Amino acid sequence: MTDERAKRFPLALADLVREPRKPAGRADASRVKPAAGASSGKPGGLRSAAVAQKSGATAPSSASAPAFASKATPGIAKPVPATVRSPAQAPHPRTSALRTAQRTVERDAANGSANGVTRKGAPNVALTSTQTLTSERVRERMVERLRANGITDPRVLNAMSVVPRHMFVDPGLAAQAYEDAALPIGHHQTISKPSVVARMIELVAAGRTLEKVLEIGTGCGYQAAVLSQVAKEVYSIERVRPLSERAKLNLRPLRVPNIRLHYGDGRLGLPAAAPFDAIVIACAGLDVPQALLDQLAVGGKLVAPVGSQAAQSQVLTLVTRVSATQWRESQLDRVFFVPLKSGVI
Ligand code: SAH
Repeated sequence: MTDERAKRFPLALADLVREPRKPAGRADASRVKPAAGASSGKPGGLRSAAVAQKSGATAPSSASAPAFASKATPGIAKPVPATVRSPAQAPHPRTSALRTAQRTVERDAANGSANGVTRKGAPNVALTSTQTLTSERVRERMVERLRANGITDPRVLNAMSVVPRHMFVDPGLAAQAYEDAALPIGHHQTISKPSVVARMIELVAAGRTLEKVLEIGTGCGYQAAVLSQVAKEVYSIERVRPLSERAKLNLRPLRVPNIRLHYGDGRLGLPAAAPFDAIVIACAGLDVPQALLDQLAVGGKLVAPVGSQAAQSQVLTLVTRVSATQWRESQLDRVFFVPLKSGVI
C-alpha cells in the first residue's frame, strides 16, 4: 500500500505537516441564489444537472478526521490535532515547508541548477528579475488585493500567499505573474487569473474541510498547488500531454506531497477515486458532464465555467449535490475560460 501510494503520489517527496485551519465561517452560498433543479436554456445553464437518476449513486465521502500528512513517511496521513491559528501568527508548518522548498529552488536556480528543471527562454536573464519578483512581499500585495476584492477564507488567502505563481509561467512572463491576469502557458492554454483561482476554491470549500478534491484542467499546475494547501488530497487531470508533463516539472521542486496528476480526458473524471468533496473545472463546457456530477459526494460542491467561449457567455456555476439524485445550481460571475474539450492530445 505504501509503495503503491508512493507510486501514485509521484510528488510525495516532502516532510510536510499540515494542520486544519479554522473554517472561514463565510456562508458563500448565502451570496448565491440557489436554483432549484436545472436551469433551462440560459447561457451557462447546466443541461444535465437537474434530477438525474443514478442507481449506483455514490455515497458521501468518508468523514475521516481532517488531518494531514506525512512527516517521516511521505504520503502517509498522520492525524494531528486541530489547532486554530490566525494567519498573522507563526506560519503553518506546510506553509513553512513550501516556502523553504521554494527558496531552495530559487537559490539553486540562481546557481544554475534549478533542481533539474529546464525552462524555456533565457533563464539567467529571467532569474535575476525572478528573484526580485518572487519575494513574499509581492505575493502578499496580491493577497491584499484578493482580500480587498472579497476573498475571506483564511485557508485560501494563505494558500495564495505561499504558492509561487511565477514558477508556473515562462520566465519571460514572470514580471506579470502577480498581476491579476491570465497568462499563456503554451498549447493555446492559459494559467487562470489569481482572483478566479481564489474565488473558485473559496466557493467549493465553503468553510468545510476538504478531504478529496478533483481539478479538471491541470494546465501548468498552479491551481493544483493552491488546492494542495487547502485540501488533503488533490487529483488533477489534463488532456494535453506536454502540459501535464510541464505541470509535473513545475510542481516537483515545490515538494507538494498530496497532488496526483493524471493525463486523460477530464470529462470522464476519475471514478476510481470518487467521490470528491469538491470538483473544480478550469475550462468551460456547454454543460457540466454528468460523470463529474456523479463523482461529487453528497454535500459536495462543484464549480465550473459554463457556456460558450465564442459567444463570451460563460458563467461561473456552482453546483451542490444535495442528495444521491439531486444537484442544486447557482449561476454567479461572468468569466472567460479556455474550452473544455473531449479526448486527449
Ligand atoms: N488549472 C490551470 C488552468 C488551466 S487552463 C491553472 O492552474 O491556472 C485549462 C486547462 O484545461 C488547459 O490546460 C486545457 O488543456 C485543459 N482541458 C481542457 N479540456 C480538458 C479535458 N477534457 N480534460 C482535461 N483537461 C482539459
